[in-house]
Amino acid sequence: MSQPEKVLVIADSITVGELAETLNLPVTQLVGELFKNGIVATINQRIDFETAQIIVEELGIDVELKRKDIEKAAVQRLHKPSDHAVERSPIVAVMGHVDHGKTSLLDSVLGMKTVAGEAGGITQHISAYQTVRKGRTITLLDTPGHEAFAALRQHGAALTDVVVIVVAADDGVKPQTIEAIRFARDANAKIVVALNKMDKETANPEMVKAQLASEHHLNPEEWGGDTVMVPVSAKTGDGVDTLLDMVLLVADIEELKADIDVPAEGLVIEAHMETGRGSVVGLLVEQGILKPGHFLVAGTSYGKVRTLLDFTGKTLKQAGPSTPVTVTGFKELPQFGDVFTIVKNEKTARLMVERAKIERERHAASTNVTGADLLKMMTQKHVSQELNVLVKADVQGSLTSVVDSLRLVDTGGEINLRIIGSGVGNISESDVRLAESSDAIIYGFNVVLAPAVKRLAMRDKVQVRLYKVIYELLDDARSSMESMLAPEVVETEIGSLQVKGVFRTLKDTVICGGEVLSGKVVANVLVRAMRGEEKLAEVEATSVQRQQIEAKEVFEGEMCGLSLKTHKKLQLEVGDRLEFFTRELVKRTLK
Ligand code: GDP
Repeated sequence: MSQPEKVLVIADSITVGELAETLNLPVTQLVGELFKNGIVATINQRIDFETAQIIVEELGIDVELKRKDIEKAAVQRLHKPSDHAVERSPIVAVMGHVDHGKTSLLDSVLGMKTVAGEAGGITQHISAYQTVRKGRTITLLDTPGHEAFAALRQHGAALTDVVVIVVAADDGVKPQTIEAIRFARDANAKIVVALNKMDKETANPEMVKAQLASEHHLNPEEWGGDTVMVPVSAKTGDGVDTLLDMVLLVADIEELKADIDVPAEGLVIEAHMETGRGSVVGLLVEQGILKPGHFLVAGTSYGKVRTLLDFTGKTLKQAGPSTPVTVTGFKELPQFGDVFTIVKNEKTARLMVERAKIERERHAASTNVTGADLLKMMTQKHVSQELNVLVKADVQGSLTSVVDSLRLVDTGGEINLRIIGSGVGNISESDVRLAESSDAIIYGFNVVLAPAVKRLAMRDKVQVRLYKVIYELLDDARSSMESMLAPEVVETEIGSLQVKGVFRTLKDTVICGGEVLSGKVVANVLVRAMRGEEKLAEVEATSVQRQQIEAKEVFEGEMCGLSLKTHKKLQLEVGDRLEFFTRELVKRTLK
């Protein structure tokens, strides 16, 4: 067997974007290949080593993938606390296999029904809550789907201090349990295991402990190990207080601190648009004190904090470290996982965003951009047109895929694709109103359009396009953007002639004759009348004659007579040159 040309070393798992970059392939091609293999993946989604290997083989690329030896890349917090940092509350993520009781446990802890992902059917990546136990606050993150976590990891941010891994004691360790353990370890977070559903007769906590110990190196304390495992029942509430006590105990070992006398900084943990409120952005403050009126920059967006709310929707005067908040006031939606910072004023914010946008475009455009490309991108900043879209999809997974893929359609050229909003669920009347007010088209993926909504859309002339295949949707978006491109003017030279005699000059007609210098001369085309380098006029050739007989075409070296139609009087002279050409408008395609 022949040796592959190249050996590439990648980690245990890799995001689609990183793999594309490693393989020097367009992300869309990789997403397409994954799609063919039944994997709907987005640019930020992680695929494991084996999947990456299969895809590389399918693509027929002559590359061998090697697994990188796992050396723990230390995950850093954004900042190391200084000497005068103050104590902060622990940030705890609740993770585990589906149906093992994450949501129920959160409900039990918070004493309320969590409504994750139901805020008007709008995208929510992480929902964050706070609870108080024995006078101490605990910040809880609910991570529906672990992709959100992977995305955070990709940003190199250590968001969580403790991961509570929920394992149903009647079911044991399952794939997402293992995933959760891996994420916790990658993030350098402490692990506390909640052995849930203890009220069930079939609960077998010893079996779960044995699985965790033998297969995943999580040894329970009572067996001499160092992993805290707490039997609980989210249903009856038994053991839940103990679980929180243990979380605080484990967190205490870490001596969690943060500075408060520094500009506020943290992470974007959710972002969506809402009718009437504009951008609604979830932030987790990591250090400093965030207040209304502050200017924020996050990735390529900025804004002024208009309202600052806690997780229950109550207005806050300020928010310190470890506090999840919701703010309004961002001009554009920042991206999940972006780091936010406070800046002095709007001018600084705008400048930073400009720079970040150029940086992001540069990164997206190519892996090896030349200086000339960069210059071009910078001069193209006065982008003239935008295609606004609003996306609705049946489930969170496909919504993320559609939105991420649409972002890839936006190549940062003359036409920008702007996603003004996205959400899970059928297209509603308020979607139509939002689209109408922002002149957007609505893309529905695997969703339906109720007759009443359809009528409203027709009345308001809002375009709604429904798709079941992601590529058809993307093609549509691409051609919509292409149709917005001003057509290109293409001029084709046909021939030239030197004027040897001018026979008659009227107000709108010139009759002359001459010798064809190059190409050919034909009737019904455009003519540039030139004197040396000077362009006298642009006229039209209405007839061409050879020896007083109408001719179809006259070639180089031959003499002919011409009738030219002019808009204003044209005083041609012997020796002037006439250049014959056609002009067409050609529809352009996106680069
Ligand atoms: P998630 O997918 O991990 O968020 O799991 P859910 O919280 O939605 O729970 C899945 C199912 O298990 C639901 O039917 C819950 O009522 C049930 N459940 C969760 N915790 C317990 C528990 O402690 N005891 C019992 N008997 N059922 C539970």
